[in-house]
Amino acid sequence: MMASHAQLILVINCGSSSLKFALYSTDQRGPLLSGLAECLGQADASMRIDADGARVKTSLDGANHAGALAALTRELDARGLLKGIAAVGHRVVHGGERFTASALITPDVIAGIEACVPLAPLHNPANLIGIKAAIAALPGVRQVAVFDTAFHQTMPKAAYLYALPLAYYRDLGVRRYGFHGTSHRYVAAEAVRELGLDPLDHGIVIAHLGNGASATAVLNGRSVDTTMGLTPLEGLVMGTRAGDVDFGALLYIARRTGVDLDGLDTLLNRKSGLLGLSELSNDCRTLVAAAEEGNQQAADALDVFVHRLARHIGGLATSLPRLDAVIFTGGIGENSAPIRAKTLGRLKSLGIELDADANAGIFGGKRGLISTGRTPAALVVPTDEEWMIAEDTADLAGLKAEMAAQ
Ligand code: ADP
Repeated sequence: MMASHAQLILVINCGSSSLKFALYSTDQRGPLLSGLAECLGQADASMRIDADGARVKTSLDGANHAGALAALTRELDARGLLKGIAAVGHRVVHGGERFTASALITPDVIAGIEACVPLAPLHNPANLIGIKAAIAALPGVRQVAVFDTAFHQTMPKAAYLYALPLAYYRDLGVRRYGFHGTSHRYVAAEAVRELGLDPLDHGIVIAHLGNGASATAVLNGRSVDTTMGLTPLEGLVMGTRAGDVDFGALLYIARRTGVDLDGLDTLLNRKSGLLGLSELSNDCRTLVAAAEEGNQQAADALDVFVHRLARHIGGLATSLPRLDAVIFTGGIGENSAPIRAKTLGRLKSLGIELDADANAGIFGGKRGLISTGRTPAALVVPTDEEWMIAEDTADLAGLKAEMAAQ
């Protein structure tokens, strides 16, 4: 139940045809309500809301993002929650070099997000639609932008420059930005607390393994290197994304097959990764089960995933003076004991020692150590990007009430 002084924070994450939302109260750790509007702009647009253990699903009759937000505010009003909303937090994918932290939204900040559209042509326009629709639906309510890239703005030049002619960086902003920053920032702080590390003297590597996957080296609370680049395509093997590929291989494919730029985009972002290798599924769970039943392509896909991950974790550790811990998060990192075990098995040279029993017992939102008592430790920490967005929003919107910590 909401205390009378508590204020509400709506968190919004807009995709090109979806709007994910969660409503937090400043006096409670978990969301009061959460949900998803999807297929926006299509005839079968719909919205589901989960609250108090019940799910309500409604048709949105082809509504767009603005229509979905209008339906959501009507629903929140009917539940007596609308008037309590003191701020709205928006996930924004690309903040370029301008946004090094979350920002209270002003016309100038909107212009800044618009200026980053060329860097994220699919994501930032959807985020802007959400911001504009929320301003229209909740006039006078403070809005905050929380950027996927901001946490990585502390990377040194040596980590963020590509070895391309420097003019591309100067003129077009071509550099490594990194993503999943909100998750990495949240998980880093939680891990430091959980392991009793000194907030001003620690070195950890975080592997965020979901449908998208990236790993980050965090030194004393700051990102110093990460695996994603200008776009979320670089680095680790992902569900349908290739991660690192020799660009020469792409030139070769293009010359041999005549595939054009849009075709390469689809090939690298949608047809590669675990799906492309296994020719079965992008879903790690399906592949682990198939591999156990003897499907060699599924086993090979997972081996490539683990090889690349271990290699990147090892590489990221070289940006740290000392490795205190490797942290797993995201759907795969939080749930897949076999992937964690195989990855740590490849990191013995870093001194990490798996505790197989502890590892087998951590899934489904649990957190805990999966290594023996030695350093570096290995730890699982469930991520909570929405909560992090709500916290930043409360901070920047000047909501005095302390968000309940747990
Ligand atoms: P997103 O990046 O879309 O937020 P998630 O963080 O939810 O994705 O991660 C989705 C991935 O987590 C999928 O590949 C899914 O197979 C994987 N996953 C979830 N549960 C398990 C499990 N028990 N074992 C292996 N993989 C799992």
